[in-house]
Amino acid sequence: MTTVIAIDGPAGSGKSTIARELARRVGVPHVDTGAFYRALTLAVLRAGADPADQASVLDVLARTNVCRADDRTLLDGHDVSDEIRSGEVTASVSAVARHPQVRARLVEWQRAAIGDHGAVVEGRDAATVIVPDATLKVWLTAPPAVRATRRAAQQGNADAAVIEQVVTQLIARDQADRGNTFRARDAIEIDTADLTIADVVDRVVAHLPADD
Ligand code: C5P
Repeated sequence: MTTVIAIDGPAGSGKSTIARELARRVGVPHVDTGAFYRALTLAVLRAGADPADQASVLDVLARTNVCRADDRTLLDGHDVSDEIRSGEVTASVSAVARHPQVRARLVEWQRAAIGDHGAVVEGRDAATVIVPDATLKVWLTAPPAVRATRRAAQQGNADAAVIEQVVTQLIARDQADRGNTFRARDAIEIDTADLTIADVVDRVVAHLPADD
């Protein structure tokens, strides 16, 4: 039986770190579904298209290819893994991700990346839309201040003023992504605030069916 673990949650809840480590522990690929939205957003910005206009985004999408290889993200064959984390992309990605026809197409790309040999799939709608038959569904949470502190530390500046600014940005992105962020009814919920990465991974692994 193949193991598919869906990890959903808001920005900064620890999804990427946990998903990557979990994939390593379970021995399956890590599929970061947000990377597809980010890569498309980069293509939209490069094309000078309007992220808020679905027709323009679809036009860019029709000429764009995004795939994942070895945990890197390729846009038209070029590694854009670092560029898709820029502030500019982060500020526009929710607008791109809001368009239903764009989502429908990206879910196809995401499922193609997942394949049928097992995966840890990280996103906002992984457990409800992308892999609704996942072996295990996990919803990660943490209070905004904790999420912002982590994010600021990752960016190399965890001053109080920076953290405050990041809290505001995270709350705005949560709000912008609200319509496409779902906690599956059958998901286990883990508040990562006071847990180490290893603790969270252990808890998830403990929920996997015995024969996996
Ligand atoms: O996970 P990450 O923060 O990199 O995701 C970037 C953006 O992609 C999110 O803010 C959201 O707009 C979009 N996204 C989505 N559905 C997913 C994954 C990401 O709408 N499954």
